[in-house]
Amino acid sequence: MRLMNTIAIIGGGASGMMAALIAVRAGANVTLYEHNTTVGKKILASGNGRCNITNTRITQEHYYGLDPSFVEYPLSCLPYARFETFCASLGLLLECKEDGRCYPFSQEAKTVLWAFQRALEASSVKVVTDTNVTAITHKKGFFTVHTDHEKQGGFSHVLIATGSQAAPQMGATGDGYAFAKGLGHTIHPTYPALVQLHLKESTPAKMAGVRMMANVTLRVKEQALTTVMGDILFTAYGISGLAILDISTTASLALSRQQHVSITLELLPQWDTTKLSHVLKTLCVNAPQLTLEEALSTLLPLKIIPHLLKTITILPATPVRKLDPKMVKRVVEGIKNWRFEVSDTHGFKHAEASGGGVSTAEVNPKTMESLRLKGLYFAGEVLDIVGQRGGYNFHFAWASGMIAGEAMARSNET
Ligand SMILES: Cc1cc2nc3c(=O)[nH]c(=O)nc-3n(C[C@H](O)[C@H](O)[C@H](O)COP(=O)(O)OP(=O)(O)OC[C@H]3O[C@@H](n4cnc5c(N)ncnc54)[C@H](O)[C@@H]3O)c2cc1C
Repeated sequence: MRLMNTIAIIGGGASGMMAALIAVRAGANVTLYEHNTTVGKKILASGNGRCNITNTRITQEHYYGLDPSFVEYPLSCLPYARFETFCASLGLLLECKEDGRCYPFSQEAKTVLWAFQRALEASSVKVVTDTNVTAITHKKGFFTVHTDHEKQGGFSHVLIATGSQAAPQMGATGDGYAFAKGLGHTIHPTYPALVQLHLKESTPAKMAGVRMMANVTLRVKEQALTTVMGDILFTAYGISGLAILDISTTASLALSRQQHVSITLELLPQWDTTKLSHVLKTLCVNAPQLTLEEALSTLLPLKIIPHLLKTITILPATPVRKLDPKMVKRVVEGIKNWRFEVSDTHGFKHAEASGGGVSTAEVNPKTMESLRLKGLYFAGEVLDIVGQRGGYNFHFAWASGMIAGEAMARSNET
């Protein structure tokens, strides 16, 4: 016998919309609450307007959290081929790059949003926008959803898909943590992820606007944890760029624990120290009339050179003919090992995601159901899971939303 489950989904983002469509296709009665005027606002802003919707190389190694192995089952349920088929059922075609990153074929995030919006409109999902959920209560096996305007009871299942606090200007609230806590769950402290970093030194502000390639090594408590090659961008507040975003989640977690965090930049990463030292020595011989600043400006952006040389206490006006081998070694060392102390992140407002959240130890990864309260489910970023850059956050949102949608629709089947 089949009972029709009545499901409330709180949050009309990636995970909530996925769960709603899957649950309704499986025959459930679904109400989706979203406090923005439209669903899916973050999708529009994602991937610089292109929406890096998923990645063909999805594995557990791309995720952080107290227990990243939590993602293993959800990811195994949504391999790329199944996701592609699901998207095709919405009329959404994808294109994947060689490195595994996938985007809508149109390269426009709005086509992703439209595909989900039209599918929801064509379904019997009741989409309630412009409505802020303020509380979720539970009594005698049924849930009541309280909003700013009213309360609606009689839900056999509730999915908390409210996302994180990252990008509050797009509707992120962190309300889901309060709902989960109120219903008996543990929340791990949250911290901004995929975010720019603030540096203790005032130097970066003077170099604002300089973008270049570097190997960035992150040190926590003086221990080198990871090195990433990519672009960096000096800014008025510190440092940004893709390489910085890539190390930022680990840096932010350490900062949230009051641990000492620093980065070292290896500039001119295409050359090792031997090659760089050879290039410098040759420059000195070929153009003895140059100052060190002038000679280095053929290799590095001019704006950074005085600051770089200050760290190794050599004057920019030093004629290169006066450089002895020891000084050349110091210049090489400065270029290959430029250290900055990290003081903070640029905050949730600028973060693409958040670490921390609802403890995964209290959620069944095979259903996304709470192990504390029957009928309560979680999906997406509200959980203590955060992915690397590259479509991994959306993929976990789709996968966990899909599992929750299926499980909620089918949980009373006999
Ligand atoms: C600028 C930016 C770019 C990004 N680019 C990418 C990318 O290219 N690839 C990638 O994989 N990830 C990207 N991300 C991360 C990705 O957007 C999120 O990981 C993903 O949206 C999480 O999905 P979710 O369903 O958990 O939460 P969300 O998509 O945030 O959805 C949660 C929804 O709940 C609503 N809500 C919250 N509280 C309430 C409440 N009390 N009542 C009612 N509604 C509520 C919110 O308004 C929101 O619509 C980006 C994020 C940002 C900010």
